[in-house]
Amino acid sequence: MDLSKTYDAVIVGSGAAGGMAAHVLTAHGMQVLLLEAGKRLPIEQELRSMEWPYDHPRRGDAPPGSHAVSFNEYTVRRPPYAKASAFRHVYSYVGGWGGSDYVKNILVDEKDHPYTGTRYAWVRARALGGKTNIWGRLALRLSDYDFKAKSHDGYGEDWPITYADLAPYYEKVDLYLGISGVKENLPHLPDSLFQRPTKLNAAEVRLRERLAGMGRVLTPYRAGVTTDGVKHNKYRTKCFGRGACGRRPGGCDIHAAFDSPTGLIYPAMDTGRLTLRTNSTAYEVLVDRNSGRARGVAFLDSETRQSYEANAKVVILAASTLESARLLLLSRSRQYPNGIGNSSGHVGHNFCEHVMGPGVTGLVKELVGKPHTLDDGRPGGFYVPRFRNLKDRQPGFIRGYGFEGSSGHSMFPAHTMETPGFGAQFKKTIRDYAGAFISMGAFGEVLPRYESHVDLDPVEQDRWGIPVLRFHYQFGDNERKMAEDMVTTAREMFEAAGIEVIGVDRDILTEGWSIHELGTARMGGDPKTSVLNQFQQSHDVRNLFVVDGSSHVSASCQNPTWTIMALAWRSCDYLADEFRKGNL
Ligand SMILES: Cc1cc2nc3c(=O)[nH]c(=O)nc-3n(C[C@H](O)[C@H](O)[C@H](O)COP(=O)(O)OP(=O)(O)OC[C@H]3O[C@@H](n4cnc5c(N)ncnc54)[C@H](O)[C@@H]3O)c2cc1C
Ligand code: SF4
Repeated sequence: MDLSKTYDAVIVGSGAAGGMAAHVLTAHGMQVLLLEAGKRLPIEQELRSMEWPYDHPRRGDAPPGSHAVSFNEYTVRRPPYAKASAFRHVYSYVGGWGGSDYVKNILVDEKDHPYTGTRYAWVRARALGGKTNIWGRLALRLSDYDFKAKSHDGYGEDWPITYADLAPYYEKVDLYLGISGVKENLPHLPDSLFQRPTKLNAAEVRLRERLAGMGRVLTPYRAGVTTDGVKHNKYRTKCFGRGACGRRPGGCDIHAAFDSPTGLIYPAMDTGRLTLRTNSTAYEVLVDRNSGRARGVAFLDSETRQSYEANAKVVILAASTLESARLLLLSRSRQYPNGIGNSSGHVGHNFCEHVMGPGVTGLVKELVGKPHTLDDGRPGGFYVPRFRNLKDRQPGFIRGYGFEGSSGHSMFPAHTMETPGFGAQFKKTIRDYAGAFISMGAFGEVLPRYESHVDLDPVEQDRWGIPVLRFHYQFGDNERKMAEDMVTTAREMFEAAGIEVIGVDRDILTEGWSIHELGTARMGGDPKTSVLNQFQQSHDVRNLFVVDGSSHVSASCQNPTWTIMALAWRSCDYLADEFRKGNL
């Protein structure tokens, strides 16, 4: 990069949001600098999607001395979880999913990146592409049940946009990146422009049919995966259904599953208008003393710790919901003593996400002993969209939840660890039962509350000497009541389908477990109660934008990444237009 140059725009962060900003702004002809704190990894060598467990010296485990924080640790202890740990490297719980060696360079080492406050299972990926390198790919749209949720039930705030505002941008994302699924014509889960869907297997079809009788829907996993290919992108291949999706903490080394580098950043670099600097940890948005405008970003080289300044006419934060809020709060100056863009005092507040944990496992007895089928050669199983608080009003809680689930044969047979026995009979039992299990778990909307917030810890710093986030956040009564209902309805649906319920999960997982953090710099029409306008532009600083999930006004119960990208596309179209007119 050229430090003497003033770029048209500087973007901080290269995940779903930053990648999309880079794509859209370079397509509009702008000269863009992208700063990413992590490394550019030889990602195919990291993921090694098709490696068999026995090809790996430790069956996929990271080298001795590494540790992934467990559910019990998150529950019993408080952050910083890695402090005083005897392990050399500590990762979030995702590092414990079987295959930690494949993500040890993608996930952050908690020893270097502490945080404090209330319990929170914070999963972070610091590498080019961020969390999109390993995301679960469930790609869902929001609807006006979400954008206008306050009008529906009176709680919180409506978004400053409607579904009609965002629909054209969802379509752009669908067409540019590819998404697989089946049309269902549901007003609360709008359809995408789908490529070839993956197939449901026998148990899933049976559940779908029985749910239809209950007025509920089971649809094939809507995956942010190109199943037909995207001809305009030479970095990606269509999904061959190689059965690798579920084996590891995630990742697709042929990039059929969307990831930001191959889906967005490399094509943007091919325009000749994108400069990428990895190993660049931003720590402040710089401000022009006279005008109060953003003039660039101060960053440290993540390896040498040397400090630099990047100059730009527009600053775009896309460091992920919590990191962007941290950057806003870190950017204190005479003009902005509480952090840039924070005249409302809402930066870091209204933090929301998804609650998960409740779920059910069942056995379809008729499938025991049936011939084996290839069921994990697909990017996902099924999704049961929200059915609560649409036309009905639940007595105990507002908003809703959906279920993710799957059934069928997988490379490592289901329930092997829970099955007693040994020898030939044990192996026969495992083989006979392998394809007969079905399970699903819920993701529910967590309400945004002003008191749910993060701020800067006055003492604790990360490895680079930058103040870290402190959490003030826990689930409330609405989430607890909703979780009870998840257990009841999960069981009721399996029983209705004649599936024997063999396991019920009732416990709520630690805050943060969903990896869907949202809301810390929300959009709105009123600068007193919101941080950004409907184009994710700071109310206070015209040339500052925050294009990630921090802008979301409520969490919905649908996974957020497709919406993050549709919003970023919309905002960057607006940004480029304003830039051309000389308004920024
Ligand atoms: C295992 C897993 C499964 C998931 N499954 C799903 C799913 O099925 N569906 C779904 O919708 N979502 C899913 N998600 C969430 C999804 O990955 C995120 O919503 C999405 O990646 C958010 O994009 P982002 O750009 O805001 O953040 P990120 O992808 O996290 O990217 C942020 C980037 O900013 C960089 N950065 C941070 N701070 C700084 C700084 N100070 N300076 C410079 N760079 C910085 C980071 O290194 C990172 O590369 C999953 C996530 C994980 C980890
Ligand atoms: S099943 Fe498809 S998306 Fe999943 S890893 Fe294989 S090719 Fe990639």
